[in-house]
Amino acid sequence: MQTSAAAMSQSSAHDPQSARCPRGISHLQHLDAGHQRFLNGQSQHPHATNERLKHLVQGQHPVAAILSCADSRVPVELLFDAGFGDLFVVRNAGNACTSATIASLEYGIQALDVPLVLVMGHEGCGAVTAACQPHGTLTPELHALVSCIRQGLDEATFNGDLPAAFRQNPIQSARHLVRGSALIRERIASGQLLVEAAYYTLRHGEIEWLGAIDANEAVHPGHLRRSDPSG
Ligand SMILES: [Zn+2]
Repeated sequence: MQTSAAAMSQSSAHDPQSARCPRGISHLQHLDAGHQRFLNGQSQHPHATNERLKHLVQGQHPVAAILSCADSRVPVELLFDAGFGDLFVVRNAGNACTSATIASLEYGIQALDVPLVLVMGHEGCGAVTAACQPHGTLTPELHALVSCIRQGLDEATFNGDLPAAFRQNPIQSARHLVRGSALIRERIASGQLLVEAAYYTLRHGEIEWLGAIDANEAVHPGHLRRSDPSG
């Protein structure tokens, strides 16, 4: 049995059973389709009417939970061409994984049966910059948030490699999320949840998929390739 499990683990290096959730992958493809419409100037702005809101009074069934930065340049519904009731969005400065973040996402997973959690960082993130260059005057609460972001970053980024830090941040935040939630680890391991990291470039408006995080915090690229407008 151990040999079989080991062989499976090795053979699935690019498509690991522990990070495979068919429903989550399907919803990730749905998000990517909306993002491609946005990139191509073909946004449909679905589910944006008062009628849709009335329909949702009885309950919500979002397709994904998204942890992103509070930055005004990261309007999640616009980036994925989504509307009312489509996305369960948690935002704070630096898409940091605090206890409130974990609790909010657990609600989305447990109560709303969301099969996909996307952790999305972005180019030029002020909170990540503060984490790498903590020389300014920060309030105690902001200092705590920035320290949370700094924990996962490579020390090399503290010497000025901000582009690397911007890209590391969503992966580290997703790992922190997996580490901090038994519910999330269990759902990933049982194939009920996909946790994916992504990076949003401001200058191109494009989202790059960085890979899925398994229950052991390993990153597995490959569920979606880099956004391809022709696809
Ligand atoms: Zn930011």
